[in-house]
Parts: sequence; C-alpha cells; structure tokens
Amino acid sequence: MTALRPEVADFDSDGRSDEDRAASEGTGLVQLHESIAALLASRGQWRQAYQHLRSAFDLVYADQDEQPHVPEQLRREVDRLRREHAEAREQSLRDSLTDSYNRRYLDERLLDMVTDKGATADGLAIALIDLDWFKQVNDTFGHLLGDRVLQRVVELLQEELPEDAFCARYGGEEFVLVLPGVDASSGVEIAESARMRVERHAWASLAPGLRVTVSIGLAYEPPAGDAPNRPPVAPEQQLLRADSLLYTAKQSGRNAVAYREGGRVRLAGPAAGRRGIAEPRVAGY
Ligand code: GH3
Ligand code: MG
Ligand code: MG
Repeated sequence: MTALRPEVADFDSDGRSDEDRAASEGTGLVQLHESIAALLASRGQWRQAYQHLRSAFDLVYADQDEQPHVPEQLRREVDRLRREHAEAREQSLRDSLTDSYNRRYLDERLLDMVTDKGATADGLAIALIDLDWFKQVNDTFGHLLGDRVLQRVVELLQEELPEDAFCARYGGEEFVLVLPGVDASSGVEIAESARMRVERHAWASLAPGLRVTVSIGLAYEPPAGDAPNRPPVAPEQQLLRADSLLYTAKQSGRNAVAYREGGRVRLAGPAAGRRGIAEPRVAGY
C-alpha cells in the first residue's frame, strides 16, 4: 500500500500535486484574461481588450514544448493587423474633434444597460450638458476657436469621473456623462463640480474676453431594489428626462445643474437660490 502512495510533499490536502495546482492556476489566469477582454470589448475598449487576449494566448503557449510553428514575419503581420483592427474599432467609437466617445458608443452602451440589468443595479445618473450661448462664442471668436472650446470642455468634463463613468458627445455642443453606480447626491455633486470647473476655467488664456459656461440636466434612476413598486426607467428614457431637466436649467438662467429631488425640480449649488425655477418641458419629467 505504502508503495502506491505518492510523495507527501508533492501533494496538498485535497490530493492535488504542485503541478496540477500550477496548471489549474494557469487556466484560471487565462480565463481571467479572457473575461476581462470580453468586458473591455463590450465597452468598446478594444485596444486594452486585445492586450488581455494576447496575454491569454501567451499563457496558453508559455509552457508547451511544441509551440505552433508560425513564421516570424507572418506572426508580426497578424499582430499588426489585429492591432490596427482594434485601433480602427476604437476610433469608430470616438468623436474626431474632441476624442470623447461618440453617439454610436453612447447608444451601444445604453442599449447594453437595458439587457444587462447588472449594469444599472446600483443606480444610474445621466447628465446632459449643453454649452451656454455657444453660437455667440462662434460668432464672436470664430468657429476654429469654438472647436478648441469644445475640446477643452470635454477635458474638463472628464476630470475626476468615477471609474465606470464615461463622457460622450451627444451631438453639436451637447455632451452626456453616464455615471453608473453612483447614489443620487453623488450624481448631483459630480455634475455640479463639472459645471463649476467649466465656469472657473481660465478661458481668457484661449482668447481675451472669452467666458464659457454649461447648463446640465441630471436624471437619476435609483437601484431597482430601492423602488420595487415602480417600473424601471430605461436609460434611453432617462436621457429624455435629462433633456427635459436641461431645458429647465436653461430657462432658469443657464450655468446651472437641474435635477429632481422628492418630486420637485431643484438647481444645485449657488443656483439653488435663484427665483422662479422653470418647469420641465415635459410634465412629470
Ligand atoms: P443655448 O444657451 O440656448 O444653448 O444657446 P446656444 O447658442 O448654445 O445654442 P444654439 O443651439 O443656438 O447654438 C449651438 C451652436 O453650436 C450652433 C453651432 O454652430 C455650434 N456648434 C455645433 N457643433 C459645433 C462644432 O463642432 N464646432 C463649433 N465651433 N461649433 C459648433
Ligand atoms: Mg444645443
Ligand atoms: Mg447651447
């Protein structure tokens, strides 16, 4: 009997050898890389997704004696094509002027959120942002400077975003911040500090006399469990609510964040003291 027993030192308590354990850890790592790649790909972060797939590939072949024989030149060419494909795909989801995500990316992500309930399980804030009097900026300072303003605004909007959040160009001089997993008051704080960063930016360094502000409509959808008797609002519809609140922010004097709290429309920060906050464009929104 003793002769059939393996060396104790090579086996752990569940009877697995060090080799078995290393192999299963290796497989786990490959699967982890593949899952991360799938997640990143679903968010359109193709370049990072490709790198994780590459790591998975390298792990699979790292400890095999007989690696598949692929001529070096061909391997490099395939690598180059894959990289270019990943980059092209990522570029197709970016806005060429501001380098923020574009409307296609936004639509894809919002649609994903409808099918993947987990994405909105912790609550979702959507902020629709529109530059104030931007036509005047173009008319006064020229279209090219207007373009630079849009680029700078995106940089400011993207500062200090939570990890899963993103900024997309909705069209023209309108942008969307999608903030999954934040609670209602953090959503307001994030939108209000973005508004303040734009207001306080040293715009005169781009052109003497230039001032830029934004108005923001912020729609918040709480975690599903917090309001079990209310049908969930789809992200697309939430965007319509944000649009309606944006109208309120504009009508209430611009340079403000409008949001709903306890059924009432409010303005965040210093704008809260303004008189005559306008009603949203669509009743109930
Ligand atoms: P409001 O405060 O009501 O939003 O006023 P506004 O002037 O910002 O709004 P309006 O819709 O009248 O004008 C939007 C302007 O945005 C008009 C359009 O030329 C300009 N715009 C849209 N896209 C671009 C762009 O890519 N570059 C530049 N420079 N201007 C743009
Ligand atoms: Mg507009
Ligand atoms: Mg505007």
